[in-house]
Amino acid sequence: MPRVRCPIGTLRSRAGKQVVFVVRHTVAELNLAELDRAQLEEALAARGHERFHARQIFGWVYRHGVVDPDQMTNLSRDLRATLTSEFSIATPAIAERHRSTDGTEKFLLRLADGQQIESVFIPDTPAMTFCVSTQVGCAMACAFCLTGKMGLVRNLTAGEIVGQVRVLAQALDLLDKPFNIVLMGMGEPLHNYDETMKALKILADDHGLALPPRRVTLSTVGLLPALERLAREPLMPNLAVSLHAPTDAQRGQLVPLNKKYGVAEIIAACKRFPVRKRSRITFEYVMLAGVNDSPEDARRLARLLSGVKSKVNLIPLNAAAGIPFERPSDPAINQFAKILADRGLIVSVRKSRGRDIRAACGQLIVEGQRRSPAQTLAINLGQVG
Ligand code: SAH
Repeated sequence: MPRVRCPIGTLRSRAGKQVVFVVRHTVAELNLAELDRAQLEEALAARGHERFHARQIFGWVYRHGVVDPDQMTNLSRDLRATLTSEFSIATPAIAERHRSTDGTEKFLLRLADGQQIESVFIPDTPAMTFCVSTQVGCAMACAFCLTGKMGLVRNLTAGEIVGQVRVLAQALDLLDKPFNIVLMGMGEPLHNYDETMKALKILADDHGLALPPRRVTLSTVGLLPALERLAREPLMPNLAVSLHAPTDAQRGQLVPLNKKYGVAEIIAACKRFPVRKRSRITFEYVMLAGVNDSPEDARRLARLLSGVKSKVNLIPLNAAAGIPFERPSDPAINQFAKILADRGLIVSVRKSRGRDIRAACGQLIVEGQRRSPAQTLAINLGQVG
């Protein structure tokens, strides 16, 4: 009887019959989307390939939006085979895409484990801007924010944060054009610090998208230890701080985290923050009728920000069912802005974009996935959706 050749082996059974082992051998695939270039170089070297190929692969994935190794035509057949058999690259899938009358587009993206997030494209502000999520849901539970009602479902990985940029840039044909990124989608970026910073590193890579950190704005509710850590980062994004009120009494009602890190501490940290030349910290201020929009609030805010390299971005509330606040009148908003401007502050009023598709600030919420208790409660109360 001819011997069957098999890389795994053959065996003779007691009855003398030859039995061929069929062993399913699974090589753990490395998700290339989660690797910064140094890590990819390591992974290639460990498999006997030259490190410099990492640059070519970054170019394909991030500059050209090519994720199929067979289309990476300047790589050897051998390397393409390695990429096919030992690597994968997870890319968020577009589950839904909605276009607002003002050109804003909201993308509902499905991740590998079925969780969903939202990312928003805001054109002509004057730049092209992608508003990107850093978490599924959010733990911060700000009183006026719909995402806060979901609770935190999980952190996004660096690959998932960057994946949103890859998907949007490709879908909008912007891969080779300049764009800005604001980390103002779902989640609190400083509550997912390491993955967010790794995402910025991947985005900034010269051989990939080469997105300079000055094109990125990180918006935080003020997680103080993480803010101090951010101040020492080599890759420094622009900073936006969600302040929303000039006193602890008011802010504590709106931002639960304020009970831990109060207004004075946040402002002191901002004063120490190494702000780039010709740059300023943006203070976001959601305007809520009768809560934080009085002339006295404006005067307090101006006093608070004196000595801070700041600009104030007033965000009239995007009202939604389940949000127990109202948007102030336009004259009230203008009066507030004028008081700040008269005291030498740089003020802008954020134009609300994409409200008709619920893509505006604080309106990002994904339903129909595993819900946190807070989210379930909100939905049962008929407050959401
Ligand atoms: N967690 C981060 C980033 C996400 S939210 C942060 O708090 O900064 C981006 C901005 O939208 C924040 O300033 C947030 O306070 C604001 N926002 C949340 N809900 C809003 C709503 N309903 N109307 C207007 N702005 C809102």
